Amino acid sequence: MARTLDHLFDQNVVWAHRKTRDDPGFFRRMAEQQAPRYLWLGCSDSRVTANDVLGLEPGEVFVHRNIANMVHTSDMNILSVLEFAIDHLKVEHVVVCGHYGCGGVQQALASARGSMLDHWLQPLTMMYHKHRSLIDAIPNEVERLNRLCEVNIEMQVRRVAATPIVENAWARGQSLHVHGWIYAIHDGLLRDLGPHLSSISERDALPSIDQRVASPVEPISAMRRQAIDVFSNKAIPELPATLCCTPLDGPARPHTATDCD
Ligand SMILES: [Zn+2]
Repeated sequence: MARTLDHLFDQNVVWAHRKTRDDPGFFRRMAEQQAPRYLWLGCSDSRVTANDVLGLEPGEVFVHRNIANMVHTSDMNILSVLEFAIDHLKVEHVVVCGHYGCGGVQQALASARGSMLDHWLQPLTMMYHKHRSLIDAIPNEVERLNRLCEVNIEMQVRRVAATPIVENAWARGQSLHVHGWIYAIHDGLLRDLGPHLSSISERDALPSIDQRVASPVEPISAMRRQAIDVFSNKAIPELPATLCCTPLDGPARPHTATDCD
């Protein structure tokens, strides 16, 4: 087995050459500053890379990833990222993005315990155990996992919105929006789960995560319904091309160009 990774250096040279050829000023601009509008808090899964999923270039999205896109309020790593992104980079949007079929979330459903990962996933595991009768009542194993993937995102959005970093930004009038999204690896599409939070009052008006677990995640967007149906091998309904950003607590509405800003 090769001890060096020369092929990756070779690929890097090809990539840098292609970038320079297509956009001669690219690396000069990158070296001068970064001004991303978005902070992505996602899962470490190698198939869910923020720039690719969002179709963004380097410099356009600030990224933090960990297993199962967890937000621990004692995690200096994520708190430092959050503070730098909000206070210094002045990002306008924080997106917590998980994905269906998440192996980290699956671990929270498992009975075996004792690994470091189990410590990491503890808040989610506790949530599952608290509402076990509701989650376990879902007959399909894949749907059960995906339901917990959605719940996890809603929970982490609430945790982001409860940090003093976000609270202070809102208190001083900084424009900052927190989103909960989920990604489906099987079709490469993002779904907007909600909630959308832009102020302390919006955060405080949210139903508790316990209430959200107890009640179905409805109204459900057509795109989310389609993703769930694909995983559970149900007949896949025709997907309306105009629906993308159905609000969690409102009626479906046509997608507009600014919906996903
Ligand atoms: Zn994952």
